[in-house]
This record gives sequence, C-alpha cells and structure tokens, in this order.
Amino acid sequence: MTTTTPALIADSATSGFRQGTIERRDLRPDDIRIAIAFAGICHSDIHTAREEWGPAHFPLTVGHEIAGTVVEVGSDVTRHSVGDRVGVGCLVDSCGECEQCKDGMEQFCVKPSVGTYNAQGYDGEWTMGGYAQEVVVSERFVLRIPDGIELDVAAPLLCAGITTYSPLHRWGAGTGKQVAIVGVGGLGHMGVKIAAAMGATVTTISRSDAKAADAIGLGATAHIASKDEEAMEAAKGTFDIILNTVSADIPIADYVALLKPAGVVVNVGLPPAPYEIPPGALIGGNRAVAGSQIGGIAETQEMLDFCAEHGIAATIEVVDAADVDAVWDRVVDGDVRYRAVIDTSTITPQV
Ligand code: NAP
Ligand code: ZN
Repeated sequence: MTTTTPALIADSATSGFRQGTIERRDLRPDDIRIAIAFAGICHSDIHTAREEWGPAHFPLTVGHEIAGTVVEVGSDVTRHSVGDRVGVGCLVDSCGECEQCKDGMEQFCVKPSVGTYNAQGYDGEWTMGGYAQEVVVSERFVLRIPDGIELDVAAPLLCAGITTYSPLHRWGAGTGKQVAIVGVGGLGHMGVKIAAAMGATVTTISRSDAKAADAIGLGATAHIASKDEEAMEAAKGTFDIILNTVSADIPIADYVALLKPAGVVVNVGLPPAPYEIPPGALIGGNRAVAGSQIGGIAETQEMLDFCAEHGIAATIEVVDAADVDAVWDRVVDGDVRYRAVIDTSTITPQV
C-alpha cells in the first residue's frame, strides 16, 4: 500500500516536466511523512535529469532542498513530532554501521548511501525527490529547521548551505583568512554569506561585474570579473581558500595561481570534464586542489543552527510549478538571483 502525491515528473532527459502524481511508501516505524512547502532548484537537479552525469532513471522527480512540516510519524519515531518544521537534503538512507556513517559522513557510506532522487533504495525502489507535495523519509535523515528561518529561505540550505559550509569549515575559513568564492549562483551566494559569517574576508569571482554590487551586499568585500586579465593578475598569490562552485568547465590552473603558498582550491562545482593542472602549479607553493561532497547529517544540523545564529539564509526567487522548465534555462544562464525555490502548492496534476 502506498499513497500518491502531486509532483513534477520528467519522462526523459529532453521531456521537460509534466504535473502528475507519484507514490510514497507507507510509513515504516522510523519514517516521517512531510508536507513539503518549498523545494529549491539545485543545478545538480539539472545535471541529473538532463543526463549530463550519465543515464538517469525515468520517470524522475528531482529535488533535494526540501522544507516543510511533519504531518505523520511512524510508531518508533522519537526525534520529530507532528507540526515540526523540518528539512531533507541530498540523502535519505545509509547503513548507519560503517566507519563513514559512524564518523558522521553518511554521504560516503560503503553500502552506499541512498540519494534523495534517482537512486535505488535498499528496498530496490527508485527514490523520487522534493518537487512534490509530500515525502516519506526515515527520521535519521530529517533535519530540524530552527525558529527564525522561514521555510522558503531555509530550503536551499539543505544542499547549497551544507555544500559550502562543510568545506569552508574543514579548511578553516575564519578571521584573518582570505577566501574567494568562484561563481555567484545558488551555492556561491551561500558560500559568501557563510564565509563572511565565519569571519573570513571574502572576494567573489564571477564571469562579469553584473553581480558585483549584489556580492558586496551578500558579504563580500571585493569582486573580480574573471575576464578582467589585469584584476586576475593582481589577485595572484592572495587567497588562502578558493571555493569553486561553477557548474561549467573553467581553467582550474588559473585559480590555483591565485593561491597563497599552502592554499587550497576546493571544488564543489561538478561539471563532467576532468581538470587540467600542471604539477608544477601545485608543487611550487605546496598548494592543494581538493573536492567536497555535501556534508553529513550532524554537520547539516550544525550548519542550520549556525545560519540561525548568524541570521543568514538563502536569497531566493519563489517560482510556480508551471514555470520550472523556463526557470531551469535561467539557472543554466546564471540569471537566477540567487536560488529559485518552488512553491509546491502550485503543483496541479493534469488529468
Ligand atoms: P548555479 O546556481 O547554476 O550556479 C553556478 C554558477 O556558476 C553561476 O551562477 C555562474 O556564476 C557560474 N557559471 C555558470 N556557467 C558558467 C560558465 N559557462 N562559465 C563560468 N561560470 C559559469 O548552480 P549551483 O546550484 O550553485 O551548483 C553549482 C555546481 O555545484 C553544479 O555543478 C552542481 O551540480 C554542483 N553541486 C555540487 C555539490 C557537491 O556536493 N559537491 C552539491 C550541490 C551542487 P557567475 O554568474 O557568478 O559567473
Ligand atoms: Zn544540490
């Protein structure tokens, strides 16, 4: 037995969305049913559904920036109650027993972990994401949204927030550190806010100056247009941490050159092509190039609490379900300021 819920459904990589219904499992003892109020649009949704990362499983409902309210709990649930304001991010299951799970890095579970959409759960069913009105998730993967953060601006924290918080925290962004955020999009704008709240001095690096004034408003103290060769030359050797959030291929070696000795370029943007970096660019200066994938569940709660404490959340545009195809094109063009969030009440299944 299952229940159905209105959802945005893609039937192929090129179909765009139709508004229909999808099934959610009946509650297991540790499950929570969430009425989804808002679902953020992450560029990973687009990479996945357009099969830029390889074949996807259709029909597909994407979305892993989920914010809503608990409407039903299973018999063994202890962490959340009906009426709680909660979120779900990129993960919905992991074994809970391996070294990575025990260390709070469920995303690297050896079983492996189960993504919120386009992944096969341990029961063999394909997961369907948050562009929908309800979702059923094990309580271990449900986050508490602190009072003071509205659900619409909270939704993007569940992916964009944790994906930038985790590497900034790990690599020591804080007072006295020069941090550059490359790409001022959904992830990038959260990176600016979080790094500034951590006490770092933040510079944004974007394709042009179009977002310069906004970047200062978000918490940056300087902005560089990457096409401005003089400005890029002047920035050489000046950053401790460079967080690359760009969804397209960029010349990573040009950014390695902007690091101080012992600095790091951390990549979270995930375009399909490999990086090209001459070894001498790393060896000269003990520089590092790293990657970072979302964050574990405990760290995601830590990030939400950090954002509440510092009065930060996403800067959003609320969009209707009927407009999501067009909004995806705007995301690819870097035109959204700075995260589009679907009001899921506007999903109207066509009969
Ligand atoms: P987004 O909102 O589309 O932002 C990406 C930004 O990249 C754009 O705003 C733009 O910034 C820049 N950009 C786009 N196309 C470009 C091009 N052709 N050349 C140079 N710059 C370009 O995307 P997002 O949702 O933040 O996601 C960014 C990337 O992170 C995606 O690849 C996504 O899959 C990945 N991601 C990774 C993780 C992880 O765990 N590592 C988690 C979530 C997402 P400007 O306009 O400022 O130039
Ligand atoms: Zn995402």
